[in-house]
Amino acid sequence: MNLVTTITEAKLLIRNKKSRGASIGFVPTMGALHEGHLQLIRRSCAENDFTVCSIFVNPIQFNNPEDLKKYPRTLDRDEKLLDGAGCDLIFVPGTDEMYPDNQADDLDIDFGMLDKVMEGKYRPGHFKGVAVVVKKLFEIVAPDRAYFGKKDFQQLAIIQHLVKSLSMPVTIVPCNTVREPDGLAMSSRNMRLSASERLIAPRIYEVLSKVKDELDRKSVAEVKIWATRSIEEVAGLSVEYFEISDQETLLPIQQAGAKDRAVAFVAVKLGEVRLIDNIELFS
Ligand code: AMP
Repeated sequence: MNLVTTITEAKLLIRNKKSRGASIGFVPTMGALHEGHLQLIRRSCAENDFTVCSIFVNPIQFNNPEDLKKYPRTLDRDEKLLDGAGCDLIFVPGTDEMYPDNQADDLDIDFGMLDKVMEGKYRPGHFKGVAVVVKKLFEIVAPDRAYFGKKDFQQLAIIQHLVKSLSMPVTIVPCNTVREPDGLAMSSRNMRLSASERLIAPRIYEVLSKVKDELDRKSVAEVKIWATRSIEEVAGLSVEYFEISDQETLLPIQQAGAKDRAVAFVAVKLGEVRLIDNIELFS
């Protein structure tokens, strides 16, 4: 496994592989890797000849400077995990390398409502920052396939829209959310939970996993109230939003009958940490 920090080195190595006919799989990350990331890497390795993982804590997608400062950085450990998972190349650019002279590329794409609801509403500018960095990374790596987790369902919808709008020659592969044995969705942010916060965090998925059944006997509006209350009855958990939305438009559904296209989304504050999760209501 190789590690490079410049765009020139990354392009050279990858183009060299491509010229010999290798297919390229790509997993963009912000590091502080866990099993969720590693499953994306393993899938890429199984489906491609050469797998690239980028580690870049992208400043322009953080609307909260404190969150950026406290984002965990564990490069040595990440390298070992990636090596063990079969990754071929790690690309770890600095901020200057990605945004010389502090200039991020401009991006003129209309995401419709996709970047305005839920995370878009609570984290203004977040998805624009994600789209800018992913576009740039796709131009550098030129992957055949790129792997994204459904844990960040709204982000996945944004990336799919980006690729379609710009006709980028890459297949986006959605991957299932990997969870801890107690149901908590794996996240780099879980590292920041205190022991007592970690104990109550699984409540989020516990409630999400009951939403589908609740919709059989309650209206959408009633289920939203029920879910919010059920999460918040555990002291320390505060719901930022709970939505039941169409899987493609991400707009809230009105009727329980529409649940066969719906996903339940939640964002919860737990002390200083903000966790998101979702569950597909169709099967
Ligand atoms: P991040 O480093 O948090 O930006 O995540 C990098 C990629 O890993 C994104 O596509 C995430 O959706 C994905 N990912 C993060 N956590 C999980 C998880 N628990 N299960 C599956 N994919 C995940």
